[in-house]
Amino acid sequence: MNSAPVIDLHSHSNKSDGRESVREVFENAVRSGVNILALTDHDTTSGWQEAEACAREFQIGFVPGIEVTTRANVLGQDGTRHRFGVHMLAYLPNPNDVSLTSALVTSVESRVGRLQEIVAKIAEDYELTWSDVEAELADEATMGRPAVADALVTRGHFNNRGEVFDQLFFKGSPYYVPNTGVPETIEAIELIRRAGGVPIIAHPLSRGKGPAEGEPMPVEHFEEMIAAGLAGFEVMHRDVPEHSRRWLRAMADKHDLIVTGSSDYHGETGKPNRLGENSTELEMFERIVAQASGVAPYLPWLD
Ligand code: AMP
Ligand code: ZN
Ligand code: FE
Ligand code: FE
Repeated sequence: MNSAPVIDLHSHSNKSDGRESVREVFENAVRSGVNILALTDHDTTSGWQEAEACAREFQIGFVPGIEVTTRANVLGQDGTRHRFGVHMLAYLPNPNDVSLTSALVTSVESRVGRLQEIVAKIAEDYELTWSDVEAELADEATMGRPAVADALVTRGHFNNRGEVFDQLFFKGSPYYVPNTGVPETIEAIELIRRAGGVPIIAHPLSRGKGPAEGEPMPVEHFEEMIAAGLAGFEVMHRDVPEHSRRWLRAMADKHDLIVTGSSDYHGETGKPNRLGENSTELEMFERIVAQASGVAPYLPWLD
């Protein structure tokens, strides 16, 4: 490879809430000029085997990953506890690690009840049934609100996923139901490390979730995660605003952490994110591989 390789370490297939099969994601990655792709479906490794087969067939790199749904539990300045969702990317963990897989199974199972509650609330105002939602999901798929959004689009109530998220799933919405069966963020970091994986926060301090420019940044929360074994931050992601990027880069420098850039692709029609729109530096990718002991990436040039 003469120019810098395109390394996209965050993508979803229909094993969770992506709109395309694993094979279609890999076909599109090749077409987009991606050289190394991580498949990081929500709370599942069920796409890995097919992904490795596609990577071999198309001769591109494949990094097995998971986007683990976690809940932070942070003591605020005012003395009260703040709970909010944090997505933790886990690269190269052992897929047979019992502690990690059982936490993921609990998490995936709790999503079903949560989504049924959400659907029941929405069904008071819109024509929608549980089987509409099931019809949007591929076999073994991790359920999530995008499937509810897709069902509402299919029913003709909205034009696309984004509209549903804006109009029904905003912060403080009456249709909101929290994710309860998911591990706490610190616990997830420890589980991933013990499984030989490398934990990197997905889209940290993203728009609408992190502090606005000029507001205090959550130094203690981040230092607690770093002390627990956090490896780095996904800084170059379209949802991470410039002031957050600056702060994250400074934290990464101070603690010698890994910085990545990725797309968070959900398919051509899932979200506007495009494969290869951000890339991780080769040196950073090599640091991830060096820290991992769970499973190896597939890199065709090492075959
Ligand atoms: P859940 O898994 O139910 O918590 O839903 C979270 C998922 O919804 C994430 O994977 C996001 O990619 C997706 N999502 C969040 N906001 C939007 C949006 N505005 N448009 C499309 N998908 C979204
Ligand atoms: Zn998603
Ligand atoms: Fe995410
Ligand atoms: Fe994602």
